[in-house]
Amino acid sequence: MTTVRVRYAPSPTGSPHIGNIRTAVFDWLFARHSGGKFILRIEDTDKNREVAGGIDEQLAALSWLGLDVDEGYGVGGDFGPYLQSERLDIYAKCANTLIEGGKAYRAYDTAEDLARMREEQQKRGLPPGYNRRHRYLTLDERAEYESDPNRASTVRFAVPLEGKTTLHDAVYGDVAVDNRLLEDVVLLKSDGFPTYHFASIVDDHLMEITHVLRGEEWIPSAPIHILLYQAFGWEPPQFVHLPVMMGPDKKKFGKRNGALAALEYAKEGYLAEAMFNFLALQGWSAKEERDLYSRQELVERFNLEGLINHSPISDPEKLLWYNGQYIRAMPAVELAVRCLPFLRSASLVGAAADDVHLEYIAEVIALEQQRIKTLAESPSLAGFFLVDDTDIAYDQKATDKWFSHAGVRNRLTAVSTRLSSLSDFTADECETAVRAVAEQFQVKTGDVIHPIRVAISGRTTGPGLFETMSVLGQDRVIARINHALTLVTE
Ligand code: GLU
Repeated sequence: MTTVRVRYAPSPTGSPHIGNIRTAVFDWLFARHSGGKFILRIEDTDKNREVAGGIDEQLAALSWLGLDVDEGYGVGGDFGPYLQSERLDIYAKCANTLIEGGKAYRAYDTAEDLARMREEQQKRGLPPGYNRRHRYLTLDERAEYESDPNRASTVRFAVPLEGKTTLHDAVYGDVAVDNRLLEDVVLLKSDGFPTYHFASIVDDHLMEITHVLRGEEWIPSAPIHILLYQAFGWEPPQFVHLPVMMGPDKKKFGKRNGALAALEYAKEGYLAEAMFNFLALQGWSAKEERDLYSRQELVERFNLEGLINHSPISDPEKLLWYNGQYIRAMPAVELAVRCLPFLRSASLVGAAADDVHLEYIAEVIALEQQRIKTLAESPSLAGFFLVDDTDIAYDQKATDKWFSHAGVRNRLTAVSTRLSSLSDFTADECETAVRAVAEQFQVKTGDVIHPIRVAISGRTTGPGLFETMSVLGQDRVIARINHALTLVTE
C-alpha cells in the first residue's frame, strides 16, 4: 500500500485564515490517521501578493495547533526545496517538456494586446478568456516574436479542444466539464514564475502527493489540473475538495461575520485544543452524537468518508463554548500556565520566572475556572488577586454603595480583628468569622459580606467570598480591609 502523503500548501499572502488552517488540520489528521506524511510547501509564486512575515505566520499557526510537519519547508526532506520560488528551474524544465510535446506553447502577447483582445471579444459578445491567438503561430511568426527584444513570452497550456474531463472528487463525486469551455491558461509567467496551476501540479507529482485536500473554490480549476497530469502522462492524486466554511449568516466565514485570522484567536485567549476540536468538525463528522473529542480520538476517527459535501455553519459562539469546555476540563496549574502570557502583558505578573508564584496563580485561576471563557479574560477576572494591597482598582459605584453605609466602619474593623485571630484561614473559618460579625452587629450577613468583597477586590462580583479570602490569605485580606477603612466615608 502506498503511504499517504498530504501537503498543506499555503501562499504567504497574509496571516492564515481559519479556513486555511482547517485544511491544515484535516491534512494533519489524515496523515496521522493513516500513518502518512504531513508536508508543508510554501507557494510563494505570486510575488505581488506576498506579505512580509507571511511564512512565519503560517508556521506560528501550525505550531500553535500542534500540527507538526514531517517534511517540508523549515524541516527538509527528500523532495525539496519546499519553497516554490526556489524551484523555478524545475518548472522551466517541465514547461519545456510540454512545449516539446506540443502540449503547451509560448505566447507573446503584451498586456495591451490582451486588453485589446478582451475588448474586441466583449464587443462581439464572446467569452472574455484568451482566444488562443498565439497557439497556432507559424514557425516564422514565432521566430519574429522571439527576436523582438521588447516581447517577453509566457507559456500557455494547449488545452484539448474536444472531449470532456471528469474530476473524481472524494467529497463531491464526479464533476465533468467540456474541454472546449476551458481556457489555455498561463503556466509560466514572463518573469519565469509559474502560475498556481502549474506549480501545484508539478510539485504534487514530484513530491509524490497522494491526496490533495484543498478548498472547494479550486474545483473549477481541477479539470485543468487533470488535463495537465494527462499532458505529462502522470497519474493525478486523489482530489479532496473541502466545502467552504460559512458563518451563522450563511455567508463565507470571514471578518464580516465574526471570523478572525487563526493566530488572532490565540491572542484572544482561545486554547489550541478547543480550536483544534472545533476545526476538525467543520466539514467533517465522526457520525457520532458528540462534540468533544481529544486529539487522539480525532486521529483515530478521521477518514475521508466523514467529509461532508456542504458547507458547515461555523458559529463563533460554538467555538467559545468549546473554549469554555476545555478551560474547565484543564488542571488548574496548566490553565494558570496558559494564562501567564495574558497576566504578564497586563503587568500583573513580572517577566522573570522568579516572579511567578504559580501555585498561588493556580489557586486563583481555579476560583475563576467555572466562568472564564477565554484566557484573555484572566487579567480582568483575577487581576485583583495579583495587585499590591494598596493598588486595588476600586469600582466607584461599589464604594459609593458599600463604603458609605452606616456602621460599615465598625463592622469592617470588627472583621479585621476577628480575622487576625484565625489560625488556618480556611474558607470555613472565614465564613464563621464573617457571620459572627453580622450577628454581633445584628445586621444581615450581606451587610458584612458586600463591604468585605469591595474592600478586598474593589468590586461587587467575583468568585465565592470565603474562598476568595482564603486564597488571598490572612495578611492580604487584613491589609486590604485596613486600607479600605481609609476610604470609608461613613
Ligand atoms: N496556495 C494555495 C492557497 O493558498 C493552495 C491551494 C492548494 O492547496 O492547492 O490557496
